[in-house]
Amino acid sequence: MLSKQEIEQFAQQIFKFHTKQAPGLYIGILMVDYAREALGTVKGKMNAITETQACLSDVVQVMTGCTMGNRYLRVMKDIGRFALVLFDREDGRGIRVSVDLSKINPTEAPEMYKFFHRTRDPKVNLGGPEREASGKKIIQEFEKLGRELFILQKVLILEHGKPPMLPAKICPTCRETFLQRDETHAECDFCSGTHKYYDQCNF
Ligand SMILES: [Zn+2]
Repeated sequence: MLSKQEIEQFAQQIFKFHTKQAPGLYIGILMVDYAREALGTVKGKMNAITETQACLSDVVQVMTGCTMGNRYLRVMKDIGRFALVLFDREDGRGIRVSVDLSKINPTEAPEMYKFFHRTRDPKVNLGGPEREASGKKIIQEFEKLGRELFILQKVLILEHGKPPMLPAKICPTCRETFLQRDETHAECDFCSGTHKYYDQCNF
């Protein structure tokens, strides 16, 4: 278990990496710490999955070295749950940590309650002192609970092996290389329109 001083050190690193302070980052530090401790020693490489992109993915990247770039971190952002898994890539054994909403008493921890139910005062979203005050309050309320806020689950990751390295193919339309999923994948996803995300423009 991380000491208060170690938590504070990680918090400073993560706030810097994330470029702003957010209570979810602080909560995430204890989630990663808890998962790592429960997972114990791994046979292969430790990998991570986050079920939301916000906050948790940055916490995992700074604390574990599992990053988007080295592909040890998978972000399953479409699930959108505030949860993460650390797992052994060798055997798929993993620990999932999520938030037990039933532990958040709306009278004793009103700001954290609103945070997890996304019902904070709209002023908070504008940033400034309101946001800062709300964030501080959430952390204070969270510190009273600590690990008690979390649910720990042992899980087996279904596709836990090293992700395949796809072969490169030249797209006949844009003439750039792209990663080909299978034989039928003839054109890159931008040119086929599946992932068109920009228009040409002159500015
Ligand atoms: Zn193309």
